[in-house]
Amino acid sequence: MSEPTPAPLARAQDEVAELLSDLIRIDTTNTGDTATGKGERAAAEWVAGKLDEVGIGSVVHESERGRASLVARIPGADRTRPALLVHGHLDVVPADPAEWSVHPFSGEERDGYVWGRGAVDMKDMDAMVLALVRDWARTGTRPPRDVVLAFVADEEAGGRLGARFLVDEHPDLFEGCTEAISEVGGFSITVRDDLRLYLVQTAEKGLAWMRLTAGGRPGHGSFVHDDNAVTRLCQAVARLGAHRFPTVLTPPMRQFLAAVEDAYGIEIDPDEPEQALARLGSISRMIGAALRNTVNPTMLEAGYKANVIPGTASATVDGRFLYGQEEEFERQLAGLVGEGVQRDWIVHDQAVETTFDGPLVEQMAAALVAEDDGARPVPFTMSGGTDAKSFERLGMRCFGFSPLRLPPDLDFASLFHGIDERVPVESLRFGVRVLDRFLRAA
Ligand SMILES: [Zn+2]
Repeated sequence: MSEPTPAPLARAQDEVAELLSDLIRIDTTNTGDTATGKGERAAAEWVAGKLDEVGIGSVVHESERGRASLVARIPGADRTRPALLVHGHLDVVPADPAEWSVHPFSGEERDGYVWGRGAVDMKDMDAMVLALVRDWARTGTRPPRDVVLAFVADEEAGGRLGARFLVDEHPDLFEGCTEAISEVGGFSITVRDDLRLYLVQTAEKGLAWMRLTAGGRPGHGSFVHDDNAVTRLCQAVARLGAHRFPTVLTPPMRQFLAAVEDAYGIEIDPDEPEQALARLGSISRMIGAALRNTVNPTMLEAGYKANVIPGTASATVDGRFLYGQEEEFERQLAGLVGEGVQRDWIVHDQAVETTFDGPLVEQMAAALVAEDDGARPVPFTMSGGTDAKSFERLGMRCFGFSPLRLPPDLDFASLFHGIDERVPVESLRFGVRVLDRFLRAA
């Protein structure tokens, strides 16, 4: 008697949580400093091993010692078609075990969730992709077009030693890739029992991290003194910190707000959209920040003694600008910073945006609806940055599409870089099914 044919994707759905747990246990904390970061090489080798088990070859590339990224190419059925890139980072931000309910690198499965640093950002997607391609390899499934897999280092520190390194030094690895999917998108917001918005990222803001430096006349702290670097700097910092930039509705956010209006049967004031967005729950913080340029002062440095007026004072400011707003943002900045304060970029990287249309977007939508008949996919702009900034340089359209159907009451936004980061096992299984449908149709 022959064995009964297993349900499609049975093994992938069974092993996805375990793969995620295993990956979380490899501590890949990225401190931004190669000397204190760890685990990326071990994680890349672990992924290579999991691919090798099912006969998928891959190559590990190091930018610096230990800063490893891995790339594999699964040949498609029609090799004349352009390739699709599926990328995910293997590094995570630090986590302090004292603050957590479980050890952040335990990968523990409890109450239907996999817990640990990276569970949503973004070892979940890494594990879903791995589980899927392992299943394909075992069952002889071929995607219609080449699928390039990239599991990369250093995203959490800007990607210079991961995605940016690969794009600059080994662009041939991505030969033929016209589109890419990765993190921060594809998750659900529950409107009601039979309606969930699935937020697909089609754009992300640009980065403008800057150092402000003010000079002045040094002197004794007891004197009358009208040329104080600390005062001058603080005035500029306070102006920046208190400023509220005007709302700018970019195409994805216009579409997003229209979808929210429709789903909730409300009207949103385009000048003050935040109030209406509050009903989306905590995710509104992430969304709200994509409706305008922002700046937040984050670090200050000046002086060495209570009674000595220093000759210089400096501050670090985190600025983010919308797609198409780079020049306007600089003009706004110059006005706010004012005279006598020098401004230098620490990190400056472009905003990216693509349109929410075309066959690939249709396949995303179809895959979501096939697995959740209450799904309504909508585009949105991410307020943070991802490796899309690097891959976009090779001419790819980049999407955030790591599909997860989430429980209505889960505060998903707070889990990114948050305490008790965790992901429902059911959501991972859902993600595997959606990715399978999507990648087999794409
Ligand atoms: Zn991430």
